[in-house]
Amino acid sequence: MAPATPHTKVAIIGSGPAAHTAAIYLSRAELKPTLYEGMLAGGTAAGGQLTTTTEVENYPGFPNGISGPDLMDSMRAQSEKFGTDIITETITKLDLKSRPFRLWREYEDGDGDAPAHTADAVIIATGANARRLDLPGEETYWQNGISACAVCDGAVPIFRNKPLVVIGGGDSAAEEALFLTKYGSKVTVLVRKDFLRASKAMQNRLLSHEKVEVKFNHEAVEVLGENKPRGLMTNLKIKNNKTGEEQVLNANGLFYAVGHDPATGLVKGQLDLDEEGYLLTKPGTSYTSIEGVFAAGDVQDKRYRQAITSAGSGCIAALEAEKYLAEREGESPEQQLEQSGAKKGDINGADNVPEYKTNPLL
Ligand code: FAD
Ligand code: NDP
Repeated sequence: MAPATPHTKVAIIGSGPAAHTAAIYLSRAELKPTLYEGMLAGGTAAGGQLTTTTEVENYPGFPNGISGPDLMDSMRAQSEKFGTDIITETITKLDLKSRPFRLWREYEDGDGDAPAHTADAVIIATGANARRLDLPGEETYWQNGISACAVCDGAVPIFRNKPLVVIGGGDSAAEEALFLTKYGSKVTVLVRKDFLRASKAMQNRLLSHEKVEVKFNHEAVEVLGENKPRGLMTNLKIKNNKTGEEQVLNANGLFYAVGHDPATGLVKGQLDLDEEGYLLTKPGTSYTSIEGVFAAGDVQDKRYRQAITSAGSGCIAALEAEKYLAEREGESPEQQLEQSGAKKGDINGADNVPEYKTNPLL
């Protein structure tokens, strides 16, 4: 007899603070969640974005700071301690129209129809990736002067009273530049167009700040710096894209604020996304457009994108998933489908899946 399809009450996809917080809550509630932590999913190691940084100084509970990888190792250990089943695989396909939901692992399942793991509820916590510019010198000075998060890294000593540069013209760039004025001697903002995309209020604050210079029609060309192991950046070559004129700025810090890419390829076409690809959730909750599917962390948050806000939203997703499961307890897959507005043929992923109804909780 073929082995039964492995089934879990809650599948958590992701491995950052959102996923592990959800796992800690759900495993303590004895729901035995399965967490798919990914294998270099989206190019990032299991553990998420914090595995790519050094010190985290703003996560509560660590007055002396903690390294990003150590923080994520501790979260993983805490998830496991309470009984989370952690699978080191990337989920490459998800069927949210069937009940139970079906998941495919990259290596074990490939593209085939079966076998797939199944789950009564799913938490999407796949995160986001800060866009990079692939400038010459970027790889060498990444985290040695270059950062994609001023709020995370701005306070470190190498930036104190030093000239800093921010790239971008949106609200994030404005917010990051204003934040950096607390530490740097001067903050230059490079905007590739001749206008800022940021809100009027942010523009006014930015343009009137005495420590800020906004250079419109300017782009970065190359990052320059010390030529030694773990050397720091010292200069940035920039170019006026109207005149072609180049100049070399003194710059000890370079902060990218050119947008993020949320990891939502997996659910595109199944769940409602906003125009930038972020998962839409009912404000203040983790409810997505399908009942039984919850979202947490950066994948649904284009505004705050912090470890602690991700962890907080992971907690919300766990509590809401727990409530959903309690309310559905004892229901057959057919009854669950009926509740969700889909039809009987959807069970276990029949091909002719009709349109499902939007989450009635929204
Ligand atoms: P992420 O951390 O984005 O992790 C999601 C992970 O899930 C992915 O990386 C991948 O491993 C996995 N995954 C993705 N898709 C799949 C899939 N299909 N199947 C299985 N697994 C998958 N915040 C702070 O508060 N303080 C800081 O000091 C700080 N420093 C930072 C430094 C850097 C360099 C960066 C990039 C970010 C920093 N942040 C910091 C922001 C913080 O890292 C993020 O806000 C937080 O990690 C988001 O957590 P998350 O749980 O949403 O997911
Ligand atoms: P945005 O997409 O709004 O802005 C990205 C900026 O980066 C744009 O100015 C864009 O230029 C520029 N850019 C993109 N690619 C490059 C490149 N290759 N080289 C140079 N510049 C580049 O992203 P944000 O992260 O700023 O904001 C995301 C969302 O979050 C927005 O809706 C924003 O309003 C919101 N937000 C709100 C905040 C607040 O209200 N305080 C704070 C932070 C974010 P171009 O304009 O030419 O495309």
